[in-house]
Amino acid sequence: MKSKYTPTIGLEIHAELNTKSKMFCGCKNDPDEKRPNFNICPVCTAQPGTLPVANEEAVKKVIKAGLALHCTITSESKFDRKNYFYPDIPKGYQVSQYDMPICSNGYLDIQVEDEGEVKSQKSKVKNPTQNLKFKKIGITRIHLEEDTGSSIHPEGADYSLVNYNRAGTALMELVTEPDVTSGKEAREFAEELQLIFKYLGASDADMEKGLMRVEVNISVSKTKKFGTKVEIKNLNSFKVVEKAIDFEITRQTELLEAGEKVVQETRGWNDKKEITFSQREKESAHDYRYFPDPDLPPMHFTKEYIANIKAEIPELPENKRERFKKEYGLEESQIEIFVTQKDLSEYFEKVISELDEWIDQKNKSEFKKITKLASNYLISDVQGLLSGKEFDESEFKITPENFAEFIKMIHKNEISSKVAKMVLAEMYNTGVDPSNIVEDNNWGQMKDDGQLEKIITEVISKNPKAVADYTAGNKNSLQFLAGQVMAITRGTANPQQVQEILKKVMK
Ligand code: ADP
Ligand code: ZN
Ligand code: MG
Repeated sequence: MKSKYTPTIGLEIHAELNTKSKMFCGCKNDPDEKRPNFNICPVCTAQPGTLPVANEEAVKKVIKAGLALHCTITSESKFDRKNYFYPDIPKGYQVSQYDMPICSNGYLDIQVEDEGEVKSQKSKVKNPTQNLKFKKIGITRIHLEEDTGSSIHPEGADYSLVNYNRAGTALMELVTEPDVTSGKEAREFAEELQLIFKYLGASDADMEKGLMRVEVNISVSKTKKFGTKVEIKNLNSFKVVEKAIDFEITRQTELLEAGEKVVQETRGWNDKKEITFSQREKESAHDYRYFPDPDLPPMHFTKEYIANIKAEIPELPENKRERFKKEYGLEESQIEIFVTQKDLSEYFEKVISELDEWIDQKNKSEFKKITKLASNYLISDVQGLLSGKEFDESEFKITPENFAEFIKMIHKNEISSKVAKMVLAEMYNTGVDPSNIVEDNNWGQMKDDGQLEKIITEVISKNPKAVADYTAGNKNSLQFLAGQVMAITRGTANPQQVQEILKKVMK
């Protein structure tokens, strides 16, 4: 049997920091600014005689990211000039960090199933059961640099345009060790990283907007020695990262199998054909003539400075998964929805704290039941009402108090599940509290047994065939009759009670 080729993959990920101003000047950092060359000044357009001043907020955000990713934070750092010429880089060099990155030697755990197989999205709770394992992906370094402007090449035009709105905005670059071995793993890593950046409030990390950009280095080899690596750029979604890697693994393997060689080059991704294509062959290692930027003083970080930043780190996705499992006992698929939708989970916890005062804390099973109820309604029904929009509490009309009251009413059987849906829709549209809605519409669970029995007798006399079927042993007929009763009572009858009375009467 032929020995298999092992893929080796390292990622280089850029994330734009969401600082208010740019990295070295006071210009606004606004990725949504549509007017070209609007947020620019003499500093970020490199006018002679201007001087940069480093943005401390950006430095702090990189340190925060490094701490969250178990990196060592350097005590001494500096900025270096990376020299190259391109119209979108007005100074003729990019301010970056060469040999003294702010963060180094970190890692991120991703969950994999057995050997290298990434576990599906659904379960990421760090509670290794059966064949779930965690794989450490080493992080070589994270450094701070400035982003470039953007070049625009209008179709058919014999000129190009350049927009400096993005020039000089703060960018962090993260480089991984070549620990990744599949497209799925790379995707898992990038998705978890995006979540962490968002939790930290360091970057909005939106891939479609180019706020997070993933570059892939990939080679395959049959031996311990790594093969020739190819770099793939311009991958603008997680799905594309996975697909491009899988394509490239096959392409390189087939080349080697055919006795050919992999060329060291940069490749792009063709989204229509779903293939990678050669962009340029690597010129023998760039000479960027890095040297320390004489306009920017070296940085010194004290232990205390770093500790203060560490204290600001919020609960991270990994901890949240564990806590949601432990505290609320939710299913892992629901936990994952809450972990990826931070706003929704914060709302959920507000609702729970409203309910907390009401539930007997010692009654654990009662607490679990009610948290489950709240979670189910938030995840399925509210998501349905949002119809694809992201949950945003500032636009959500239902207050946590009202939502908690709504859950209580269901739990206490004051409204049927059918009525609950109508109440929720009304709350969603108007923000009115649930008891008023129920009262105004006369939707409360029917309390008058005499009236209910009257309706049931009526239904029975109108449906002799169903009654005969039921007595002959057809259980579905009971459902049918109960449905008729529920329809007449507009869902306000207690379904269980309806069934009981029906059975009693038909005996
Ligand atoms: P370069 O000098 O070309 O920038 P680096 O050594 O800095 O290369 O590595 C860049 C990225 O490529 C890192 O993420 C690293 O883990 C990864 N890498 C290095 N060698 C290989 C290889 N043979 N195959 C795949 N990835 C690799
Ligand atoms: Zn500026
Ligand atoms: Mg490198």
